[in-house]
Amino acid sequence: MRLLLVEDDPLLGDGLKLGLQGEGYTVDWLTDGRQALHSLLTESFDLVVLDLGLPGMDGMDVLKEIRDRGLVVPVLILTARDAVRDRVGGLDQGADDYLTKPFDLEELSARLRSLLRRSQDRAVPVLEHGDVSLDPAAREVRRAGEKVELSRKEFTVLQYLLEHQGRVVSRERLEQALYGWDTEIESNALEVHVHKLRKKLGAGLISTVRGVGYRIG
Ligand code: CA
Repeated sequence: MRLLLVEDDPLLGDGLKLGLQGEGYTVDWLTDGRQALHSLLTESFDLVVLDLGLPGMDGMDVLKEIRDRGLVVPVLILTARDAVRDRVGGLDQGADDYLTKPFDLEELSARLRSLLRRSQDRAVPVLEHGDVSLDPAAREVRRAGEKVELSRKEFTVLQYLLEHQGRVVSRERLEQALYGWDTEIESNALEVHVHKLRKKLGAGLISTVRGVGYRIG
């Protein structure tokens, strides 16, 4: 899952980026509201964690702008402003949830998982297809009840495809979910992960849609 973190406090931003990467997210971090707006309008993210007090453009204005343009990406607001007025304002502007600083990473992770579930209309936390199941909270994959060990990137690819079951997911989208802005992507890296997933979970699980991407279901 690709997450955009918008936070101008360098210490908090750094800690959050590391922590969320540890939870398996691909995290792109920006410190400026205007840049955040630009990226949100030109790229695809699965989740946004948005601070309110930002240079360039206030977080609330970023939120209003993306909602006005019809962007439905789930947004969790981080705010130091512990005022009821701000909370209500944030939710009115289209925030899906908010957390007041200080907070702990566990709380943030739980809220993000629940946001993802809601955005996908999923009542149950565990993703399933055939005899394969994936539990995002426990970061556990099972095949026919048996635990299967996956690398972080294999897990991300599988989760992404399961989240979009029945639909073709483009290579570009998967690569963004895997790498964000951070790394040079080896041209065959995605194929390698898919190959390993097929070996571990059965050849028939993931279909290749030639020239486009991959699909489960
Ligand atoms: Ca701030």
